[in-house]
Amino acid sequence: MTTVQNGKLEQGMDNNEAGRPESICLLGATGSIGTSSLQVLRCNPDRYQLKTVCAGRNWQRMLEIVREFKPAHAAMADPEAARQLAAAVKAEGLHCEVGAGEDAVCAAAALEHDFVIAAIVGAAGLKPAIAALGACRRMGLANKEALVMTGRLFFAKAKEHGCPILPIDSEHSAIFQALPPVCAEHLGVCDLKAAGVHKILLTGSGGPFRERPLEELPNVKPSEALCHPIWSMGPKITIDSSTMMNKGLEFIEARWLFNAGPDDIEILIHPQSVVHSMVSYIDGAVLAQLGRPDMKTPIARALAYPERVVSSVEPLDFTAMGSLTFFKPDFARYPCLKLAIEASCDGQGACVILNAVNEVAVEAFLRGRIGYLDIARLVDKMLQRGVPAGFDECSLEDILALDAAVRVQAAKLLEQEF
Ligand code: NAD
Ligand code: MG
Repeated sequence: MTTVQNGKLEQGMDNNEAGRPESICLLGATGSIGTSSLQVLRCNPDRYQLKTVCAGRNWQRMLEIVREFKPAHAAMADPEAARQLAAAVKAEGLHCEVGAGEDAVCAAAALEHDFVIAAIVGAAGLKPAIAALGACRRMGLANKEALVMTGRLFFAKAKEHGCPILPIDSEHSAIFQALPPVCAEHLGVCDLKAAGVHKILLTGSGGPFRERPLEELPNVKPSEALCHPIWSMGPKITIDSSTMMNKGLEFIEARWLFNAGPDDIEILIHPQSVVHSMVSYIDGAVLAQLGRPDMKTPIARALAYPERVVSSVEPLDFTAMGSLTFFKPDFARYPCLKLAIEASCDGQGACVILNAVNEVAVEAFLRGRIGYLDIARLVDKMLQRGVPAGFDECSLEDILALDAAVRVQAAKLLEQEF
């Protein structure tokens, strides 16, 4: 495999060099991305071996994974869930070391692995992902919130440890695939202009309320927002997709991954979700990546890069597809999208606030505590308070402290004004 130009990348991406299966760590194993990842591993048993699994509290699902894939290590963030898992593992005579608590998740993530799939949801995924960067050869990143919170720091750590990042978010995987190798293999520092890129065209479905009359949006119920027309995903990202906060987080994610300015990225609503994103070049060419809306494809792309492996996803049937449509997003309908784009221009502190308040607001909405439009209102109000003086975007302590403080303040504001 001599095509890769960066020395560390070449070493990191040379699959099966030693003729043994690659060891895999799956962070967020019980979730939606976790489940899709397991399906890809199932298709390629000679190539990948699941060594470590981590999750929050669903120990019953974790037990099924341990039974089937026989990983050597498992960690649950919830200590009681870990206790239940450990007892069941012992009772069944399975050989798997079970760790309990958030520190155990980070410790398991920090074991040596050929590939780590970072798929814990939200800010909870940040510390394990950073821990993993220190010991893994390559990382597939689904946990976009980690990059939104720490962009510069995350890439600095990846560089320090010589760990290439491969995008798993479907849009970023599409852009990665449509960019020339010189960009794809220098994520975080690539030079889009030198590569002749005119614009990155970031597509999104527009969610379930794309055509809902604006005056009906205040009455949207969690059950409606949880019904995504195209993608089947975890609850947090499904709500984010309906508000298009997800596209906003992806805008920030794309800026870091592809070293892009705000004007280098255009967001397009594409309800059919067949084109997963595109790259438009200065000579008029536009390269797109198309496929079924199934996360197994971008997971397989990241795992096997620069090769391809089967993922069990069927190819598209173009004759059955119908028309593909594209629109500009309307910020009156998607205020969260506007807030996220603005935060990306205001700096790392604003992105930390945006992400933390959004997590608080989404949870409150799902619990029926606030209305649908209150998600954007709460995020907006907290962003207006600004970033504390002296905040250092390159300090993980500062980022985690801001994240924690903002959650407390947002919860208080929610009590007082919502
Ligand atoms: P999910 O809610 O289905 O799964 C989340 C996983 O994280 C679960 O395994 C859960 O146990 C685990 N988890 C939660 N808190 C934890 C903690 N403190 N410690 C350890 N594990 C913890 O979420 P998902 O839809 O799979 O999304 C995961 C990530 O991937 C998110 O960042 C999301 O934005 C991103 N992503 C998801 C999709 C998708 O199709 N689902 C697509 C693109 C990107
Ligand atoms: Mg996406």
